[in-house]
Amino acid sequence: MMERIRIPRIMQETSKRILLKSKSIGFVPTMGALHEGHMSLIKRARTENDVVVASIFVNPLQFGANEDLQSYPRTLERDIEKLEEAQTDILFLPEEQAIYPEGFCTYVSVEGLSERLCGAFRKGHFTGVTTVVCKLLNLVKPTRLYLGQKDYQQMQIIKKMTEHLNMDIDIVGCRTIRESDGLAMSSRNSYLTPKERQAATVIYRTLSALSELIVKEAIPCIEVPALMQKLISEEPLVDHIQYAGIYDAESLTPLKEYKKINLLAVALKLGQTRLIDNMLVELKC
Ligand code: AMP
Repeated sequence: MMERIRIPRIMQETSKRILLKSKSIGFVPTMGALHEGHMSLIKRARTENDVVVASIFVNPLQFGANEDLQSYPRTLERDIEKLEEAQTDILFLPEEQAIYPEGFCTYVSVEGLSERLCGAFRKGHFTGVTTVVCKLLNLVKPTRLYLGQKDYQQMQIIKKMTEHLNMDIDIVGCRTIRESDGLAMSSRNSYLTPKERQAATVIYRTLSALSELIVKEAIPCIEVPALMQKLISEEPLVDHIQYAGIYDAESLTPLKEYKKINLLAVALKLGQTRLIDNMLVELKC
């Protein structure tokens, strides 16, 4: 039976007891509305740890004023069933008040990385992410933290935070899980109308096409962003491309020349829905 914990102090006491018995803790933080992408992290954590903790917390601090905090999908009963089926040991479900009590004013920011790519379009978003993840790590005290490559920038920022703050936690990056037509699974895909859902396949098609051209050395690095934007724009339902290009996989700055590992990344709006995706392209140089 999966244990449910709502109170931060109880989560912390529980983790302390587990660690005292020299058991490892694998942790998967989520905002709920769980899909196969989330579950792949849980399954990986299950194979690598004595105890698996998942959290569900829709973190208000990482949503901008005009973003979808109120409408973010909430499917708690189904989430609990999925977590139980995957043999999660503990579900941490804190209330907003317990995480951000009256007068809360302490923030964690990773400068530089947080301002690039999505950060340029979602001011303060990554400070919201690093602040809540830092708090969750102090409560759950995991041995290993499982993060999806789907949110590549988030993963890099959290890696940097744990390194710079000397947090003794292994970060395990997990590959992106996709629908059969290539669309990266995301809780926000449920916002898409059937036509938008069909149009969204342009993202994976474009990433795959560019990746193939790059591996075959059929396109200079400098021409990648324009071709990505052209291919995506061929889909008439795409309202606005926020960014699409090729970036250094560590610093997330735009590349002019290929490196051994290159990051293709894109963020766009389809109607009201903002979608992101990325692909790493490795070259044998
Ligand atoms: P979220 O609930 O969107 O905050 O995501 C929680 C965790 O699941 C993050 O580490 C995400 O990167 C990861 N995740 C979300 N979608 C996917 C996916 N399609 N494949 C792999 N991991 C994912």
